[in-house]
Amino acid sequence: MTFKIPLHRVSKLFQPIINISKTSNLPMQDVTSKSQKLMLELGIIHQATPGCFHFLPLGLKALDKLIKIVDSEMQTIGGQKMLFSELTNSRLWKMSGRLKDAGPELFTLKDRHNHHYILSPTYEEVASDLLSLNPPISYKHFPLKVYQISSKFRDETKPRYGLMRGREFLMKDMYSFDIDETSAKDTYNEICTSYDKIFDRIGIDYVKVLGDSGSIGGNLSHEYQFKAPIGEDCIITCNKCNFSANSEVCHEKKCPNCGEQENVLVQTGIEVGHTFLLGDKYSKPLKAFYLGKNAKPQVLQMGSYGLGLSRILAACVELLSTETDIAWPDVLAPYNVAIIPPKAGSKEEQVTKDVPENLYKLLEDSIPQLKDNVLLDDRLSLTIGRRYLDAKRTGYRYIVVINEKSSGEKPTFEMNDTKETDRLYLSQEE
Ligand code: ATP
Ligand code: MG
Ligand code: MG
Ligand code: MG
Repeated sequence: MTFKIPLHRVSKLFQPIINISKTSNLPMQDVTSKSQKLMLELGIIHQATPGCFHFLPLGLKALDKLIKIVDSEMQTIGGQKMLFSELTNSRLWKMSGRLKDAGPELFTLKDRHNHHYILSPTYEEVASDLLSLNPPISYKHFPLKVYQISSKFRDETKPRYGLMRGREFLMKDMYSFDIDETSAKDTYNEICTSYDKIFDRIGIDYVKVLGDSGSIGGNLSHEYQFKAPIGEDCIITCNKCNFSANSEVCHEKKCPNCGEQENVLVQTGIEVGHTFLLGDKYSKPLKAFYLGKNAKPQVLQMGSYGLGLSRILAACVELLSTETDIAWPDVLAPYNVAIIPPKAGSKEEQVTKDVPENLYKLLEDSIPQLKDNVLLDDRLSLTIGRRYLDAKRTGYRYIVVINEKSSGEKPTFEMNDTKETDRLYLSQEE
């Protein structure tokens, strides 16, 4: 079978499918969650070293889709995308006082001149330092919202669950700067609303809970949590007033909002995002100032907003998949449709020569969402059953099997919806 148009083809795809129990360079004890096992076995990611992973082509394609959603919501609220250098001078962390508190989670290094650096785990100091300009920027330029999507480094005590707790992971972090507390709070609420939209678009049930400010500090914080048995956080929900909080902020477990003791539900959650209203905790020591109407420098009010992108991807897989098959939210799946042509040498192959390619083109051209989202499994020496299994395990929602009925005057296509376990016979128009 030869193809006239460039296609996404399985035969050319770098997707090493492995069986972990038979792989000598990956100890079984390193595989601690369903999503990690499936993503490693189906060639979505590859472990570089414990807690650090390569994103293979399918993993990166899913990640890029998540990044697109995040970019569009961040830019809708006026977020300006940039990229900070990943090596941070330790001096900045000394100025904020965080260097001595951070402890062994911080990856540190020295250059040949004995200057000390850290591999940044987060960027509150760096973002504040960026605004310590002389002369400072005029009040007219605020609120300012800058964000980046980059690797963050944390030497976690227990890197585990694959991408969910890595030592190197991908985070979207936004920093907001305002001229007073009132407008900082408005900006905070606006960014929280955009987080709601991101999670609504992904389509996984989430809860926004009162969070613990932890080592980042500040006046107010919220966490976005996916409820899941594997989650490492404990969430308290009060059935009386509907308030939710991370148990870290609850005392005697009482509802921190209304004081209710009896009617409180405790569940585990995966923290997928965290927002902080910081006040001047970083902007003051790092001299992030603006020039006021009176032409005098005044300290900026700051917020910081993290989204664990690699964690979100793995958490979705963890929540949706079975033990054997990956399932993705439709908007994040690397491909949405797989087309499986008949095996080479079969009688079906004789009568369906151009059908797979024409169907591929038809789907891509007539359904805008399917552009670059259709995959053709052209490994024609393999049986349909074997290719069907690979497509299902990799999490392609729709699998179209081409058979003898798919040619001629009124062709029909066997269309399998793997999420609904439905098999439909559709005409070309349908
Ligand atoms: P956790 O409580 O899980 O250790 P954190 O509270 O230390 O997370 P933050 O400093 O709030 O994390 O970072 C913002 C986001 O980055 C988190 O909400 C999470 O989604 C993600 N994140 C944090 N640590 C990791 C990690 N080790 N691997 C993957 N994602 C992470
Ligand atoms: Mg942590
Ligand atoms: Mg946390
Ligand atoms: Mg947090």
